[in-house]
Amino acid sequence: MTTILEQYHARHRKSEELAQQARELFPDGVTHDTRYVTPFGITVTHAQGPRKWDIDGNEYIDYVMGHGSLLLGHAHAAVTAAVAEQVGRGTHLGGNHVLEAAWARLVVQLIPSAEKVRFTSSGTEATLLAARLARAYTERSVIIKFQEHFHGWNDYMMAGSGRGSGGIPEGTFGSMLVLPPNDISLVEKAFEENEDIAAVIVEPTGAHMGTLPVYPEFLHSLREVTSRHGAVLIFDEVVTGFRISPGGAQARLGVTPDLTTLAKILGGGLPGGGVAGRREILDMIAHQEDPQWDDVRRVAHPGTFNANPLSAAAGIAALELVATGHPNTQADQAAARIRRELNRLMARMEIPGCSYGLASLFHLRFGPPCVAHEDGVCMRPHSEIQAGMTPAISMNLKRAMLNYGVDLMGGRMGIVSATHTDAEIDRTLAAFEEGLDALRREGKV
Ligand code: PLP
Repeated sequence: MTTILEQYHARHRKSEELAQQARELFPDGVTHDTRYVTPFGITVTHAQGPRKWDIDGNEYIDYVMGHGSLLLGHAHAAVTAAVAEQVGRGTHLGGNHVLEAAWARLVVQLIPSAEKVRFTSSGTEATLLAARLARAYTERSVIIKFQEHFHGWNDYMMAGSGRGSGGIPEGTFGSMLVLPPNDISLVEKAFEENEDIAAVIVEPTGAHMGTLPVYPEFLHSLREVTSRHGAVLIFDEVVTGFRISPGGAQARLGVTPDLTTLAKILGGGLPGGGVAGRREILDMIAHQEDPQWDDVRRVAHPGTFNANPLSAAAGIAALELVATGHPNTQADQAAARIRRELNRLMARMEIPGCSYGLASLFHLRFGPPCVAHEDGVCMRPHSEIQAGMTPAISMNLKRAMLNYGVDLMGGRMGIVSATHTDAEIDRTLAAFEEGLDALRREGKV
């Protein structure tokens, strides 16, 4: 019987060849850390709805879904039509345009904390801008973030992200305070000991797209503590915005932050990000025609592709559909079925572990069963969750599942779209049965 690795090489010959060539051009042969797969990743040629195809002609049910940007699935007709219409009218208009206002209105309509908006080109830029706004508004410098929470790759937000921090000056991290999540007493203590805390930033459902959950009660406490100390509460909803509910995690969990960072679904699958929030904080960007303000306290924010018309067109098409509530309902139901049946499958196969997650996300880990919160959150200690899905286990699972026609995000979770129907889920569960069986034969679960 062939091994998982032998099968991987055999099924992906052209991808392997292209990966070898790509290594001459790109570090690791890839253009994003998450796309780094050993011994090589697949080369994808095209995608439609919940499926995509590689250069060897293999078909996959896709759970990477544009790194979370494609709630509507690949190449949704409304999005492609909107982009096609705009592309002939200009890809950069070098001035204000009507689409940006329509796009922002949808953000204000959907996201509870959004009074005003500023568009950026990515989530990384959004968290950089949010930090700067918070510091300028409060005239304080320290930002609290939580271990493993990922807020993009700008220098500040790399603190405590559990990723390489080469090239980041030590002084940068001096203004970041990294705490373990879910313990409000540590946040309280930090505020008592330090009067210079400008903001708290949090991934509201937890690190790695909710893999290491933040408990909803903690968010309520964060709201109370930050308000009491005059600090800005920032929800990084780059992943959760428009996904956990049409109004993001904040609408579903009933906690309204001061600032919200957005990207991914915001741009309908095209590049785009933004900061939304309280009017007076966003207005730190506004000119006052006073040199003392404009040249000193004001937050400067240029950016060639801010509110790019193509991204705006795609974003409007996507958010108009999100506003109906239907895409979220469909994607959430599909993910709930996957979580439920994956748990049954692992129990039947006598593989200890569990699938959990909120809305249209499903996580998978091996080890002791879930201790479930009423809202789909696994309450196991984070160390146990991490032990049950190490980078090595994830990589093995990623390869095994690719062999059976399923592409998992990071090898340990799935991002589900509104186009994943029962037919795709049936195939996914069959692939899990084969993939888990192959891993077990090799002693890898
Ligand atoms: N914040 C979170 C929670 C993310 O997951 C990401 C990217 O995955 C970012 C910020 C950075 O966004 P971008 O990749 O658009 O820079």
